[in-house]
Amino acid sequence: MQQEIVIYEKDKKNLEFLKGFFKEKKDYVAIFAKDEKSLQREVQRRTPAAIVLGSPGCIEKMKPSAVAGCPVIAMVSDNIIESMRCVLKSDIECYLISSSGNEEFDRKLKMAINKKKWLENIYSEKKDLEAIVELCYLVSSTLDPKEVLYFVVRKIASIIDVTRCSMLSIPLDEKRYAYVVSTFEDPSKTSIKLDLKKYPEIRRAINTKNIVVIKDAASDPLMKEVRAVIAPLGIRSILVIPVVFRNAVIGTLFLRTSRAGNTFTDREISLCNAFASASTNALYNSFLFEKLETEKTKLEKLAITDYLTGIYNIRYFYHRLEQEFNRAQRYNTPLSCIMFDIDHFKKINDTYGHKVGDIVLREFAQCVRRHTRKTDVFARYGGEEFILLLTQTSHKGAIAEAERLRMIIKDYRFRALKNKRGITASIGIAFYPHKKIKTPDNIITLADNALFSAKANGRDRIMVSPELDR
Ligand code: GH3
Ligand code: MG
Ligand code: MG
Repeated sequence: MQQEIVIYEKDKKNLEFLKGFFKEKKDYVAIFAKDEKSLQREVQRRTPAAIVLGSPGCIEKMKPSAVAGCPVIAMVSDNIIESMRCVLKSDIECYLISSSGNEEFDRKLKMAINKKKWLENIYSEKKDLEAIVELCYLVSSTLDPKEVLYFVVRKIASIIDVTRCSMLSIPLDEKRYAYVVSTFEDPSKTSIKLDLKKYPEIRRAINTKNIVVIKDAASDPLMKEVRAVIAPLGIRSILVIPVVFRNAVIGTLFLRTSRAGNTFTDREISLCNAFASASTNALYNSFLFEKLETEKTKLEKLAITDYLTGIYNIRYFYHRLEQEFNRAQRYNTPLSCIMFDIDHFKKINDTYGHKVGDIVLREFAQCVRRHTRKTDVFARYGGEEFILLLTQTSHKGAIAEAERLRMIIKDYRFRALKNKRGITASIGIAFYPHKKIKTPDNIITLADNALFSAKANGRDRIMVSPELDR
C-alpha cells in the first residue's frame, strides 16, 4: 500500500529535490500543498504517514495541534543558520538537508513513519492493559457473573472492530448446543440457543481446546458446510477462543467481523485470550448461579405445594387468607371461602385400596384447580378436605361458583376409577363482610360449620354457614 506524504515547501531547490525523490519512489504518494490552507486541509483529510515542511517559511505556519499524531520532517534550506533556528524553535526532531541526498532522505522518512507506528502500538497496548486491569477490578469487586461477562464483550467490541462479539456457555453434559450468555449488542439478549451443527468453528475450538481463527470464511475449508448460510451475512473473519475450566471447555468467546482483507491481528487475539482467561471463573459462576436460581425456585414452589395433590398446601393458604382478609377489610371488598369434603371417601379406599385413593385425591384436586380462577387460592385442607378462597367475590358469586364446582365434580370421570363417575362432595360456604367474621380464622370456622350441615343434610350439596344465612 502506498503511503501518503503531504509536503509544503517554498524553497525552489528543495522543492525540486523532493519532486525528484518522490517521482522515483513507488511506495509513496506525494501531495504538494500550495499554501497553508491547502496544507491544513490535506493533513486533516488524509492523516498522512508523514509531513514534510520547508524551513524557514513553511514550518512556522503549521500549528503543532494540527499535525498531532503525524511525524514531521523539516527540510533545511541553504540559509542553514536561520533554517535551523526555526527547526529548533518548532520542536521538530527530524530534519534533513537537501544536499544529503536521496538515500538519507529515504532513511529519515522510514524512521519517522516507523516511529509513528511504534507509538501507535504502544498506545494500543496501553489501552489493552487498561481494559484488562479494569476487568480484573470488576471480577474482584462484583458478585454478578453476568455483569462481568457483559463487560467483557462490550469492552472487546469497543476496542476491536467486530460485527458480533458474544460469550457462549457450553454445558458439560451437552454436545449439541451452546448458549449465548452475553452479547455486546444487547445486555438482555441471553440464553439464546445455538445449534452447534451450524458452527463448525465453535465445534473445533471445543474439540481441540485451541483458539480457532478463520481468516476468510469465504475460502476456509472448515466453513465449507455452512458457507451458503453465512455468505449473505457478510462475515469475513471469525475468532473462537475456548474458555477452559478444569480441563473442560465450558464456553467460548466468539467474534465475527466483516472487515475486508484484514483478519484478527496477533494483538487482538492475545487481548481476547487474556479476556477469555479472566472470564473463566465468571462463566463457571454463572453456571452455578443459574443452577442455584432454578433450585431456589423449585424449593420455593415445593414449600407451598401439597406433595400428594400438587395444589397449594394449607400453610400457603393461611398466608394468603391473611393477606386477602386484610385487603378486604381495608378496601371494603367481599371475600368468600368454600370448603369441600369428599363424600364417603373411606369407601374408595376400602374398595380400591389406599394407593388408588391417593390418585383419586390428586385427580380431584387437579380437576377443581383447572376450573378455578388464577386469582383464587385452592389448597388441600387435610385428608380428603379442600378449601377455596375466592377474592373479590360476594355471596351470590360464591354460591354460583360452589354449585358449578359441585356439578363438575359429580360429572367428572376419574381415570383411577376406570373412568367411572360417582364421586360427590359436600360443600360449605362463608362470606365476608359479615358481623360475625372478625378474623381470618372466623371465615374458615364458619365454612367448616356449613360443611358439617351439608353432610348432616344428606351430602352432595352446598350449604351456606347457618349464622350467615339468617
Ligand atoms: P364423609 O366425609 O362423607 O362423612 O365420609 P368419609 O369416608 O369421606 O369420611 P371419614 O372422615 O370417615 O374418612 C375420611 C377418609 O379419607 C379416611 C381416610 O383414610 C381417607 N384419607 C384421608 N387422607 C387420605 C390420603 O391422603 N390418602 C388416602 N388414600 N386416603 C385418605
Ligand atoms: Mg373428612
Ligand atoms: Mg369425607
